[in-house]
Amino acid sequence: MGILKHVSQVALNSVFPPRCAGCDAWEEGLFCEDCRLQLRAIEAPLCAVCGKPFDPLAFASLCAECRPSRNNKPPEFSALRSCFMFEGPSREAIHRYKYEGQSSLAGLLAQELSGFWRSDCNGTLQIPPCDLMAPVPLHWWRAYRRGYNQSELLANQLSPMIDVPSKVLLHRVKPTRPQVELGRDQRAENVKNAFQVDKEMTPVIKEKTILLIDDVCTTGATLRECARALRQGGAAAIYALTFARQIPQQTSPEK
Ligand SMILES: [Zn+2]
Ligand SMILES: [Zn+2]
Repeated sequence: MGILKHVSQVALNSVFPPRCAGCDAWEEGLFCEDCRLQLRAIEAPLCAVCGKPFDPLAFASLCAECRPSRNNKPPEFSALRSCFMFEGPSREAIHRYKYEGQSSLAGLLAQELSGFWRSDCNGTLQIPPCDLMAPVPLHWWRAYRRGYNQSELLANQLSPMIDVPSKVLLHRVKPTRPQVELGRDQRAENVKNAFQVDKEMTPVIKEKTILLIDDVCTTGATLRECARALRQGGAAAIYALTFARQIPQQTSPEK
C-alpha cells in the first residue's frame, strides 16, 4: 500500500473504524473472533456436483438432483462449492454487502473465497484451474438501483487473488422477480432462459473452463441457468463458487 493511501486509510479508519460484518464490533477483518466461531463451513461428505452436504451415514457421491436419469437432467456445472452456510454472521455480512450499500466489503469477502480456494477445502473443492471467471449478472435495472452488481465486484476483487481473469460473459435477457418472493419450483421457472452469453464473448469462451462467481447460492437455480447458457455458448466446463450457501432445511432465503 502506498504511503498516501495508507495515511488516508488510517484517517478514514479513525472517523469510521472498521467493523465486523457480523456484529458491528470493531474489527479490521471481515469477522470478529466471536462471529468467526459461529461460522459453519460446508464440509464433506457432500454431493460431488452441487456441493450439498450429505448425512454422514449416507453412502452416495451424488444427490438425486445431480444424478442423471431419464427424468432428471443434472446441472451443467461440474462442481459448485461455497465457503459458509448462509446463516448468522455470513448472512448478516451478505445483507450488509447487498442491501445496505456496503460495497466496500467486496475485498474482504473475496479474501475469504481466495483462502477457501487456496486451502482446497480439505480436498473437497474439486475445481481445476480455470481460464476465466464470470460474475452472475444482475438485471440492469437492479444494478442501477443498487449502484453495483455485487457478484461483479466480488469477482473483480477475487480475480487477482487467485490469478483467474474476470470478464462479464453473461447478461440477463429478461427481467426476473426477486427470488426471495418465490418457492423452489417458481425460482427455477423465474430464471429459466434468463441468461445469454454476450455475442462478442462467444469466441472468448469457446473450449474454456469457466468459474461462475456469486455472493450466495440459494436453490442453485440461477447458477444452473448461467451454466446452461455458458455451455450453449461453447464453454468446455463450468464450475461455480459462492461465499455462502443456503442449505435446504434452512429457513427462507433472501436474494
Ligand atoms: Zn462479530
Ligand atoms: Zn447434487
